[in-house]
Amino acid sequence: MKAFAYVNPASEREAVAALKIDGIAAPIGGGQDLLARMKDYIDSPDRLVNVKGLDGTITATPDGGIKIGSAVKIIDLFEHAQVAALYPAVNAAAIEIGTPQIRHQGTVGGNVNQRPRCWYYRNEEFVCFKKGGSRCFAVGGENQYHAIFGNEGPSHIVHPSSLAVPFVAYGARFRVLGPNGEREIAAADYFTLPTMQNVLKENVLEDEDILTHVILPAPGNVKHGHYEVRYKASHDWPLAFTTVVLTMSGNTIASARVVLGAVAPIPWRSKAAEAALAGKPLNERTAIAAGEAAVAEAKPMSGNGYKVQIAKTAVKRAVLSAAGIKTA
Ligand SMILES: Cc1cc2nc3c(=O)[nH]c(=O)nc-3n(C[C@H](O)[C@H](O)[C@H](O)COP(=O)(O)OP(=O)(O)OC[C@H]3O[C@@H](n4cnc5c(N)ncnc54)[C@H](O)[C@@H]3O)c2cc1C
Ligand code: SF4
Repeated sequence: MKAFAYVNPASEREAVAALKIDGIAAPIGGGQDLLARMKDYIDSPDRLVNVKGLDGTITATPDGGIKIGSAVKIIDLFEHAQVAALYPAVNAAAIEIGTPQIRHQGTVGGNVNQRPRCWYYRNEEFVCFKKGGSRCFAVGGENQYHAIFGNEGPSHIVHPSSLAVPFVAYGARFRVLGPNGEREIAAADYFTLPTMQNVLKENVLEDEDILTHVILPAPGNVKHGHYEVRYKASHDWPLAFTTVVLTMSGNTIASARVVLGAVAPIPWRSKAAEAALAGKPLNERTAIAAGEAAVAEAKPMSGNGYKVQIAKTAVKRAVLSAAGIKTA
């Protein structure tokens, strides 16, 4: 690993100031993703800026929502009683992440901003679009864990964050601090589909920006479901998963938010599944229709057609779970 300087700022403004250098600087939370990339020579920053000392609290907001500091550990997010009561899909996503060690070390900010798991990206030898190169090795290569939606390229990653999916589904807002002050961005607008202009990153953060908070609005009269499909009951990332948040009017779904994870370069909101749910009773038939609608426009690559069925099942089972119907 290349030698680097380490800065321990006393405030979020000091953290932003410390990111401005003549060279490459990066915020470091739990370090599980960043240090691994540095050890593999994928990234070689000149300076690391510790953001673990920033806000690590979860507080209630006046409108009945909650505000999560980016330094909150994944395990503390999982164990927070109000998060579990108001946002069960966040709670469900948090406990499925990795292993106890990963959940105790990983921060919310680090989880949301972790870089892709594509094995070509993670291998120093493959200089693909995402590392400033001129091709994507997954096209025509090993792409069984890659995207089935949002596949226009140039990169075909799936976004790796499990927390990002329920954050988008609950309509969270992300507070960002940069050299020009603070701004709030809807979680759905934070993550970016790759283009030739922005393929080096996965979100709207500029080099000297940090994510400081995730703000979840009061959930209202909703039912929630979250379902993850994994290769086996292991600590690895899911193959596909879904959060559904259903606004109810009696037993009728007034409106729905359906967000799929591990299937696209961003948390993938399925407008087709949402349309299939709106105005329908919450039952098994509706759940099946939502699953089918969700994958109707999937465009799998050469080696990941199997993910279409898995994504369909994840949507169906998330809706069933919102209905309180037990699945296998
Ligand atoms: C075996 C294994 C299984 C895993 N399974 C899952 C899984 O199922 N789901 C899942 O979501 N994750 C999974 N992970 C990934 C793990 O959850 C993340 O690596 C971890 O959450 C990252 O958090 P961190 O605080 O250590 O991040 P860091 O490594 O500190 O940071 C990650 C990235 O975010 C940037 N960053 C950190 N904080 C901020 C901030 N406040 N503002 C802006 N940028 C910031 C850093 O510069 C870095 O680029 C798994 C990891 C392993 C090793
Ligand atoms: S999918 Fe993206 S990260 Fe992977 S090889 Fe292609 S361009 Fe690189």
